[in-house]
Amino acid sequence: MFLSVKQMELRKIRFDEIFEPGQIEFTSENLEQISPLHAVGTAEVLKNTGGEVRIQGRYTIELKAVCDRCLIDVRLPLDMAFDLFYQPAARIARDEEVEIHEGEVEIGFYQGGGLELADILREQILLALPMQRVCSEDCKGICPVCGANRNQKNCDCHVSPVNDQWGALRKLEI
Ligand SMILES: [Zn+2]
Ligand SMILES: [Zn+2]
Repeated sequence: MFLSVKQMELRKIRFDEIFEPGQIEFTSENLEQISPLHAVGTAEVLKNTGGEVRIQGRYTIELKAVCDRCLIDVRLPLDMAFDLFYQPAARIARDEEVEIHEGEVEIGFYQGGGLELADILREQILLALPMQRVCSEDCKGICPVCGANRNQKNCDCHVSPVNDQWGALRKLEI
């Protein structure tokens, strides 16, 4: 859905959109969308701002990724609110003093007369996901020797490659 600024100038746009898996690209981020993405909200152009757009709303989605440590599937449900501000990109060139609101709000930019809702949502979803995708905080990962998932099985492999390396270096120094 394209959120057109011309349309916003007439009246606030209300959206209630469903994006089925596959409509928004997540595979390049190693994510799989496993539920419809549902987004509701409003888009409006703020008066006397030279075209600043405010987009507020809420979305729910469930994604699937692979645990960074043990490689099992991890479900990532999100239920998030957003309140975003965008300025026309042309304005940066026009006047030097683009006000940066410190800390409180982050301002994005748009060009071409509006914004694509799907692009906004994709960006918000990627920002909302944790940097580390793990099945649990204390995931023990995979044994580098036998390949067992250490959360499911306690193998008896002896693993201390890091210590051994430092040991070898220390010997060389002496
Ligand atoms: Zn894990
Ligand atoms: Zn092992």
